[in-house]
Amino acid sequence: MSSLLNNELADLSVEQLMIPAEKVAHVQVGNPIEHALLVLIESGYSSVPVLDSEYRVQGMIGKTAILKSVTGLERFEMEKLADIKVEQVMETEKPRLTRGDNFLKGLKVVINHAFTCIVDEHGQFLGILTRRAILKEVNKVMYAAQ
Ligand code: AMP
Repeated sequence: MSSLLNNELADLSVEQLMIPAEKVAHVQVGNPIEHALLVLIESGYSSVPVLDSEYRVQGMIGKTAILKSVTGLERFEMEKLADIKVEQVMETEKPRLTRGDNFLKGLKVVINHAFTCIVDEHGQFLGILTRRAILKEVNKVMYAAQ
């Protein structure tokens, strides 16, 4: 397997496997979480990237964090959805990749994260690398080697 990785996969860059920005659902830091929840429900994704007005990645937001932020003692306080901003709820500590990073770096990141953002040298959003894209490549190489 190590020679397979060296020959077939290690040469790939994460940019080659990226879903480009224009095909990625995202929200903005200043949006109310109500908007983020609508985007998540309509797209069917459990979390999406959060960008600022200059298209720089600021974090990610998911359904669980949104629901947690409106969970009261006895009920979901859904009226709060319009008042809370995405930036108050988003996760900011997620790892990011840059376009020159290689497959192995991408593989390491998606062990713990379903997707990760790829940014340019100014932190601008280029797209995402998903666990699915990485597994597809591994699958291709494993089958070819049989
Ligand atoms: P997948 O590996 O395709 O299941 O995707 C993993 C995660 O990446 C999804 O649950 C979403 O959070 C995110 N994701 C995948 N594709 C997109 C997209 N086009 N727009 C926004 N987020 C996406």
